[in-house]
Amino acid sequence: MTTRNRHPAASDLNPVLRLLVRDSTSKTCEECKRLERVVQTAIANISFVVSKRFPRFAEKVQQLHKWQDARDSAMQGLSAHRKTHTRDDAA
Ligand SMILES: [Zn+2]
Repeated sequence: MTTRNRHPAASDLNPVLRLLVRDSTSKTCEECKRLERVVQTAIANISFVVSKRFPRFAEKVQQLHKWQDARDSAMQGLSAHRKTHTRDDAA
């Protein structure tokens, strides 16, 4: 008998959301905010595609991959960008 009594919060967050949560507690600049918005838009579109009915399944998979790629590249851009100003944050 297994009971799911874990909070669906921090422990269940996927890496994407962890990145965004950590960002909210750190210093952010306009570029951070822009990239975060791109990531969040991509995530929102992924959820939309997942819940939407497509006439052809191949189309759904194609859309899903498109937004997953957009999310991944925005995430890479965000973490690369954040490294450029972590030293400024410490000062
Ligand atoms: Zn920044």
